[in-house]
Amino acid sequence: MRTTDAFVALRCVDCDARHDPATVTHRCPDCGGITDPEYDLDAVDLSREELESRPFDSLWRYEELLPFPREAAVSMGEGATPLVECPTLADRMGVGAVYVKDEGRNPTGTFKDRGQTGAVTAAVEHGADAIALNSAGNAGQAAAAYAARAGLDSHVFLPDRAGFTQKAMTEVHGGDLRIAKGEITDAGAEYAATMEQGAEGADAGWYSTKTFVTPYRHDVKKTMAYETIEQLDWDVPDAVVYPTGGGVGLVGMHKAATEFRELGFTDSLPGMYAAQAEGCAPVVRAWDEGADAHEAWEEITTVCNGIAVPDPGASPWILDAIEESGGGAVATSDEAILDAAIEVARTEGIEVGATCASAVSGAFELAERGEFGPDDTVVLLNTGAGNKDVDTLRSHLGAREEAADEAA
Ligand SMILES: *Cc1c(COP(=O)(O)O)cnc(C)c1O
Ligand SMILES: [Zn+2]
Repeated sequence: MRTTDAFVALRCVDCDARHDPATVTHRCPDCGGITDPEYDLDAVDLSREELESRPFDSLWRYEELLPFPREAAVSMGEGATPLVECPTLADRMGVGAVYVKDEGRNPTGTFKDRGQTGAVTAAVEHGADAIALNSAGNAGQAAAAYAARAGLDSHVFLPDRAGFTQKAMTEVHGGDLRIAKGEITDAGAEYAATMEQGAEGADAGWYSTKTFVTPYRHDVKKTMAYETIEQLDWDVPDAVVYPTGGGVGLVGMHKAATEFRELGFTDSLPGMYAAQAEGCAPVVRAWDEGADAHEAWEEITTVCNGIAVPDPGASPWILDAIEESGGGAVATSDEAILDAAIEVARTEGIEVGATCASAVSGAFELAERGEFGPDDTVVLLNTGAGNKDVDTLRSHLGAREEAADEAA
């Protein structure tokens, strides 16, 4: 297996055991905990100037801080997305500057490509010939795309509520699409039954690229923070508002900001804010109650599929990252979320996904609560392209117009 020099071990976040990434591929063999790639940052020979001299062409430009070298990467030029300044939003929020990190410009239209370039590269390096995962939709589509590029089979378990684009493109990429009735957790149950000892997936050696089962999704998604900080000329934003489902990106970005600080590139951490929909907000509820972990959300009542994750297993880690970074958590209604997507499209031109707009409406709410200062720099993650959610956005617009007609 080709790994980078500084990548020294997989550390279990639960029992702290260190494992050899050549033999341990997923969770901790001792306790079942989530594993996290650990780097010996003293072994990293990198400076701000060196990074600035590289083309801004793909997330693999940070290869010294990633598990695999660029030459091993199954890549389509993912990452290196624009950070777009939004003066109208800054005005409306009463802060110094607002930027949208536009992850919609990735190969399959979401930041899930960052996770799958990492996880599918790991699968290839471990000699797998098939991958499998359950997903709310976007990760499944991204996995099918990267598997296709690597010449692997992909087995993608989605809930029936997943979007048409995500289901269709999974099959267009040649993925084996399996639809479960219900939510991401139901797709997860079918995935688990198939992956169990003695079942189809286990027999065939399917390599999991599932959230927090592979250690390489959060660790490669962390590049969103590297890029953002470099795009701000090494200024650390005061707040990053992130549409939170499983929390992969939030945990990853916090890790990245910590690494940059340890390398001496920066001297502070951005406050990480988890944005959720009121119809599925287990992380926000846990944060508000001061709990160490979430309790599973009973009934999902949001149309924001990407963050309709009722039982995010990494919640203790998410809550730690929020706490350590001086961030927070906020939930807003679907109406506020979809209104925010339309507002950004109309004032800034940026096409924000329905799920992703929870970061925008969440930031409005945080601003209203006085969470931001007048000179603060606030970064909103547009985790996916608006055109993945055209039906949801258009029907909200239709409902608004109807209501306005009735009122007139
Ligand atoms: C998956 C997804 C999220 C949530 O990501 P996590 O890192 O798992 O919290 C947010 N937005 C979109 C568009 C997604 O596809
Ligand atoms: Zn462990």
